[in-house]
Amino acid sequence: MDVPVYFHFTSVVMLMMFFQLGVLIGLCMYTSLLLHEFGHVYVARRFGIPTTKVVVMIFGMVAFMNIESLSMARRAIVAVAGPLVNVLIGCTLFVAMLAIPMSASVMSTVGILASANFLFAAFNMLPIQPLDGSHILRWILHRFFNEYSLKKVMTYTSLYAAAIFCFFSAKLEMYFTAVIMGIIVCWMLFEVSSTTDTSNDEENNEDDEDK
Ligand SMILES: [Zn+2]
Repeated sequence: MDVPVYFHFTSVVMLMMFFQLGVLIGLCMYTSLLLHEFGHVYVARRFGIPTTKVVVMIFGMVAFMNIESLSMARRAIVAVAGPLVNVLIGCTLFVAMLAIPMSASVMSTVGILASANFLFAAFNMLPIQPLDGSHILRWILHRFFNEYSLKKVMTYTSLYAAAIFCFFSAKLEMYFTAVIMGIIVCWMLFEVSSTTDTSNDEENNEDDEDK
């Protein structure tokens, strides 16, 4: 796919983490994540949204595209395309394990890659901002709330869900995930405080007008 891919220097951290499972598995996992982003890029293009670049960073990859002009439903479709690619890769590898005779070591490598892809898909489908699952939750909820309430509901959902996942990831010694969730918790706390500040300002303005 003709989208430039840039590697931020912090992307080395993720690569090193993957390489702990072996260079081949690490590179394949890296490729799986890139294909995930290309899934987003492909579907966004079908909806007429260009992607300027894909950037590999410390905690993952991001496809830069402006999907704000799309309807909530189309944004959800663009979001689901990434995890769907990982599910397809996982299923293909799983079928290959069953259909193709392979040695125990090759089977174990393919099994790890298949599991990793299912895990990537599941992780990205969590309804936590800015993960892909949050776009699907927003699409489901947007018919029940106005824009302001929806933003609040999304922020609090992300805050509590990320806090729970942070706690359990740390308990299971999955520190990489715990750090990601911790950062999201801090981000959402900042969002909560900035929303509260704005609403206070609005209330104060109304008070001023009453006087
Ligand atoms: Zn994604």
